[in-house]
Amino acid sequence: MTDTTKSTQPVIADPQVTRHIMKAFNLRAAKKLGQNFLVDAGIVQGIVEAAEAGPGDRILEIGPGIGTLTQGLAESGAEVTAVELDKKLPAVLAETLAGYDNVTIVPGDILKVNIPELMGSQPFKVAANLPYYITTPILMALLEQHLPITLLVTMVQKEVALRMTAQPGSRIYGALSVAVQYYTRPQIAFDVPPRSFIPAPEVDSVVIVCRVREKPAVEVKSEKMFFRVVKAAFGQRRKTIANAMKGAGFQAEQIAAALEKCGLDSKRRGETFSLEEFASLADALTV
Ligand code: SAM
Repeated sequence: MTDTTKSTQPVIADPQVTRHIMKAFNLRAAKKLGQNFLVDAGIVQGIVEAAEAGPGDRILEIGPGIGTLTQGLAESGAEVTAVELDKKLPAVLAETLAGYDNVTIVPGDILKVNIPELMGSQPFKVAANLPYYITTPILMALLEQHLPITLLVTMVQKEVALRMTAQPGSRIYGALSVAVQYYTRPQIAFDVPPRSFIPAPEVDSVVIVCRVREKPAVEVKSEKMFFRVVKAAFGQRRKTIANAMKGAGFQAEQIAAALEKCGLDSKRRGETFSLEEFASLADALTV
């Protein structure tokens, strides 16, 4: 096991320290990379606690930025692997996180990195202040790959967290709600105001904890068919389930037979379907 020497570096989660680092390295927060750096030590601590981070943990961080959350995670004694897309930042991180021998910085795009190769087959956690322009693709990629993730603790736009936890019948219930709830038990942990970042984002943020289920919430014969049906249902969410599925390429007779077999009304909209109902419909369509 590695000796996790604590650094004598100042706490990065502070407006003055962050401004100083940005000035020293001539950095400007890149909007197109979703760069909003945390400057609130209380929020960093809140994420570390929500991740239940400690010695023996392996944590994948997405987008370490200048090392703000990384430092908090490293201080807990966890082994941190952080993937950063911005090519300028690894050199900055080498200095801001100097002294932490439990941090590995991996330059690259989280959507392209081979995560099984990077993290291996042992359980790990994910912690991140996510870049908001690709929150959904990142969450979907992490969930769909069946990685040995136990806990996902992420800072997301409040509106996205509300979609992740939305229930059937609500206007914001959609494919993201179904996917997140199929794989995990999501729970909003706490609100984070715009002033906790530099620069301040134009939206409200929250930290959401998603505990990965040992088994998905519902059992299905084919996960591929389950998500095909879900995507079809929400692809044209104003239409009835039968019409939305027809629009997505399913045959009318096939849909009618499957809905009847499950005792589901063809006039209902997909947005009213529970995970169990999507599962039974998908199973009826799986040959
Ligand atoms: N963790 C830092 C913090 O809390 O202050 C920075 C968070 S900032 C909201 C998001 C970070 O993700 C930025 O550092 C950005 O460069 C990085 N990023 C953006 N797209 C990425 C991608 N596709 N893969 C990896 N990192 C990415």
